[in-house]
Amino acid sequence: MVGKVYLIGAGPGAADLITVRGMRLLQQADAVLYDALVQPEMLDYCPQAVLIPVGKRCNKASTAQRFINKMLLDAAHKYQRVVRLKGGDPMLFGRAQEELQALAQAGIACEVVPGITAALAASADAGVSLTSRGQARNVLFATARVGEGEAGSDWVKPVLAADTTVLYMGVKQAAEIAAALLAGGMRPDTPLLIVENASLPNAREWALSLAELPQAADWQLAGPAILLVGEVYRAKQALADELPLQRLG
Ligand code: SAH
Repeated sequence: MVGKVYLIGAGPGAADLITVRGMRLLQQADAVLYDALVQPEMLDYCPQAVLIPVGKRCNKASTAQRFINKMLLDAAHKYQRVVRLKGGDPMLFGRAQEELQALAQAGIACEVVPGITAALAASADAGVSLTSRGQARNVLFATARVGEGEAGSDWVKPVLAADTTVLYMGVKQAAEIAAALLAGGMRPDTPLLIVENASLPNAREWALSLAELPQAADWQLAGPAILLVGEVYRAKQALADELPLQRLG
């Protein structure tokens, strides 16, 4: 018997921000392999399933991607309906390609179900459009992170050219990111927003300028956080200067 694998976007965190299709597939799953970013409440949708954590969080015990691929293949040989539940959208900074490739090579059928990516949840929480009319006509989804063994990336150039940028996995490298952007010629007063735990009840946000960004590296954020950059955040920044928002560190 060979089962089918569903690569499902869990959304940014809140259990009711998964798609209806994703939830239905979870309800029918025999086995669910889930990421560390998936909130436990979401697993309430699949009490019938065998739950297999495949945690991958930066600086925390991680399961190597190759091992995850192997667990996926093993599950597909054991169960009829296998769900691979990934934070946000699987196709954005989610290593979906490696998993799709491993499944294809093994001749295992796979279907991808999209999810709400962190950038969109953070924008909803912040109440700022990524494409505020007259200010931003393009949005860049980017990361400064380069995985082990990968060639370096010139991520600064596209950020300088974009109206709005959403930087994934960046807050811990805030100091390096700030230095690289300043060296690239970005203005120190460029407005930024950091959103932690987007979509969750404990979501927090900070408006700051590029010059202030290095401070964020010292914040001990417990949840995932995302960095948004662009003129669309200037009004937030002005408000933060007037009424200092909660700042850590
Ligand atoms: N596929 C995911 C991204 C995985 S990379 C997606 O589409 O959202 C992991 C990064 O996503 C984190 O380092 C953080 O930058 C961001 N992220 C994920 N969930 C988040 C959340 N609830 N709030 C803020 N940032 C989040």
